[in-house]
Amino acid sequence: MSDTIFGKIISGEIPADFLYEDEIAIALKDINPRAKTHLLIIPKKPIASIIELEEGDEKIVGHLVRVAKQLAEERKLPGYKLQINVGKEGGQEIFHLHLHLLSDYSNDIR
Ligand code: AMP
Repeated sequence: MSDTIFGKIISGEIPADFLYEDEIAIALKDINPRAKTHLLIIPKKPIASIIELEEGDEKIVGHLVRVAKQLAEERKLPGYKLQINVGKEGGQEIFHLHLHLLSDYSNDIR
């Protein structure tokens, strides 16, 4: 697992409250939300960033989007943004791939 905070959360080294988990990804609330709803969808595979994507990883990225859609539907969000920061110059701070789900709407079911 990656030696980042997300790697440690996924391995259980750091406790966290998962909103969602399957064999490919987890989701949790962003610790420093920039919108009423700010969730992170994170693959279990330690892909550092979009720059490091390997062949086959596009399935994982597609899965992250699918999980985001499900989380948005569960929360009845009428609209939202999906964002991936790529590289330091792209605003990425944690080098374990993650998809931000941001919405100014909130229907906090957990
Ligand atoms: P990025 O700039 O795309 O790498 O985003 C990293 C995000 O992770 C930021 O929005 C942080 O607020 C968030 N973050 C950092 N540590 C944690 C944590 N322990 N649990 C949840 N979110 C975190």
